Amino acid sequence: MTRRTLETLSFDNSYARLPQAFYARLNPTPFSAPPYLVHANQAAAELIDLDPAQLARPEFTALFGGSALAPGMEPLAMLYSGHQFGVYVPQLGDGRAILLGEVKNEQGARWGLHLKGAGMTPFSRDGDGRAVLRSTIREYLCCAAMSGLGIPTTQALCLVGSDDKVYREQIETGAMLVRMAPSHVRFGTFEVFYYRKQHEHLKTLADYVIDQHFPHLRDAEEKYVRFFREVVERTAKLIAQWQGVGWAHGVMNTDNMSILGLTLDYGPYGFMDDYDAGFICNHSDHNGRYAFSQQPYIGLWNLSCLAQALLPLAEKEALKEGLETYQPLFEQEYVKLMRTKFGLGVERGEDDELIRDFLGLLQGSHADYTIVLRELSRFSTADGATNETLREHFLNRDRFDEWAVRYRDRLRNEYSRDDERRDRMDRVNPRYVLRNYLAQTAIEKACNKDFSEIDRLFTLLQDPFDDQPGMEAYALPPPNWGKHLAVSCSS
Ligand code: AMP
Ligand code: MG
Repeated sequence: MTRRTLETLSFDNSYARLPQAFYARLNPTPFSAPPYLVHANQAAAELIDLDPAQLARPEFTALFGGSALAPGMEPLAMLYSGHQFGVYVPQLGDGRAILLGEVKNEQGARWGLHLKGAGMTPFSRDGDGRAVLRSTIREYLCCAAMSGLGIPTTQALCLVGSDDKVYREQIETGAMLVRMAPSHVRFGTFEVFYYRKQHEHLKTLADYVIDQHFPHLRDAEEKYVRFFREVVERTAKLIAQWQGVGWAHGVMNTDNMSILGLTLDYGPYGFMDDYDAGFICNHSDHNGRYAFSQQPYIGLWNLSCLAQALLPLAEKEALKEGLETYQPLFEQEYVKLMRTKFGLGVERGEDDELIRDFLGLLQGSHADYTIVLRELSRFSTADGATNETLREHFLNRDRFDEWAVRYRDRLRNEYSRDDERRDRMDRVNPRYVLRNYLAQTAIEKACNKDFSEIDRLFTLLQDPFDDQPGMEAYALPPPNWGKHLAVSCSS
């Protein structure tokens, strides 16, 4: 395997070869106070062939903290627009992020390195172009958590802080984060050219994305429709995974929807503690547009915006048919996933109902989603077993008992073995998730320059399915102070 240094990283920015209307070229604006490394991600470094020993060099912090450039980077801010809370906003774009460049690794895979918090750009509107340590820690840790859970996501390479002050609702510490993705193109990147009636650019963008990321469609008939159908599929699968793990994005605007079906743009997201289908993690989302239970529907809504933007390239009917595949695909993926979480090996018509009834019981009991599902792995099908540890989580014990009989019979019916099923379920029901209060603890320490908790969580969350010795406290429900922390868009 090639191990490169900072000086020999192989940059080649394919986005910079697109028409100038797609972006604004500019360099990051460094902090005035010297940047310091908060954390760096070895696994992400390996994706770009960077020798992990390089992460400790001051030049690494300078390069990925906005203070230096490497040859071949070609930094630029990407243009896009999008629907925010259902309303079309004609121009958004990277207002505080800069695509530093793209690294082509030894396997030929490209990774766009996007520096968030890099200063003002022509797309900054009223913003200051900065990011704060608090929100970058949340993004950094959640990327690790999603990766650990096997959910498609952008990766975070490193987090760099500065003593520069950033003004939000209060004065905060500034920071920059490098996130990596094969592409940072969003639904909104297509929308901007559609609404500007720049159909040539729209076609160039679609051809570029297909060429880079859907190469099997390059010469296909009806390639734009087939491309759209693949985006539908990826999005349905992604959102099924969010629902399965009890995670809400919080700001599912079309500018935050990745064309590759990655989890993108971490803001006021949340893993739910107590199960609540109506969970709203974004404090600013007063109407609950992006509530947990709405996400599958919003996925469809956002895809319909993308379909609209593709109208100049494809037949309306064909796009509509593509859109219609979403709902059944989502349902199928979600039930398949939940079946594994419930340890059901065989597919039965009544599974959907069995799962839904259990979630209904959880909701009525305000029971912790992660803990209860993990406990479900320990369900005993033996005669006379009362499954007391699980049972204790439910307020209405009689209804739980009724459900448990159905579940037991269902498992017996497929000759499920308790020990074998438990191992299988433990691979899909995490012991540890990034609860808001855990992130909050890491943030508070980091504001006092103690980064140990970030490191601890980062390591823990990369491996969320195994019981890790000494980490029992991290699997507990939140303490009272950490139950309903307000998280808003402000970042
Ligand atoms: P977000 O809510 O993070 O998806 O951002 C929506 C839009 O606002 C994007 O165009 C961002 O680049 C822009 N934006 C958010 N925060 C800032 C900021 N502090 N400075 C400049 N632009 C920002
Ligand atoms: Mg965004």
